[in-house]
Amino acid sequence: MYYFDPHIHMVSRVTDDYEMLAKMGCVGMSEPAFWAGFDRGSVDGFRDYFRQLTEFEPKRASWYRVQHYTWLCINAKEAENVSLSREVIAMIPEFLDRPGVLGIGEIGLNKNTKNESIVFGEHLDLAMKTDEQILIHTPHLEDKYQGTRMILDMLCDDSRIDHNRVLVDHVEEHTIRAVLDEGFWAGMTLYPVSKCTPERAVDMVEMYGPERLLVNSAGDWGPSKPTAVPDFILAMRLRGHPESLIRRIVYDNPLRFFSGSRNFDFTPPEVYQAAGL
Ligand SMILES: [Zn+2]
Repeated sequence: MYYFDPHIHMVSRVTDDYEMLAKMGCVGMSEPAFWAGFDRGSVDGFRDYFRQLTEFEPKRASWYRVQHYTWLCINAKEAENVSLSREVIAMIPEFLDRPGVLGIGEIGLNKNTKNESIVFGEHLDLAMKTDEQILIHTPHLEDKYQGTRMILDMLCDDSRIDHNRVLVDHVEEHTIRAVLDEGFWAGMTLYPVSKCTPERAVDMVEMYGPERLLVNSAGDWGPSKPTAVPDFILAMRLRGHPESLIRRIVYDNPLRFFSGSRNFDFTPPEVYQAAGL
């Protein structure tokens, strides 16, 4: 089955991972900007990172006919440095018209601090002024419920924001309903050490249905599994769910959501096949 991984940090992965994902059916992916494991020291560090995301990663993915898209921001983990965050936010528009840039993300909260809220709000303002879609990171573990609630309140308080153009990632059983009820898209992240397992993701599909629901691996430089979406596909099959339902979540839904971005120019694999390529 063809699928998209809508949230994966390929700069942290080796080229063999691209090959493995392509062999498992991955035809497209989107890579939000995130924390490098250390705080970057200057706006030029981010400029170089955004060049990597928009120039080299799409090329590396294309070697295996995987179509690579990206989202730009400064991560909440670096938001305590508000002045650097503002420099980065001011620089982001240099990249917004590049091919494959889907919007602003992954933005949100980490420890739910005041500075994180300020930087999150300024990212939202940038997205509204530049007509961009938004990809949201919600906090982990003990900070998740409160952080998700704070994020949803800020999104709902801004009347400029079209909820259908916002994807809220890392939802779990205690946050998914609020996200879907407000009309946002929801992403379930499958992680080996925290977040959600494939089986819990299947439970949530059974409870809430496939509408506006996505699944991703969030594969990065830490313990994570870039092939988590195929694990979800298998878990769905083992529960007896039809291929059409699985395809809707791992392929049709990402295509629908990404189509809201002006730089989304996906070529379906059938087009390559028809052209004999
Ligand atoms: Zn991420």
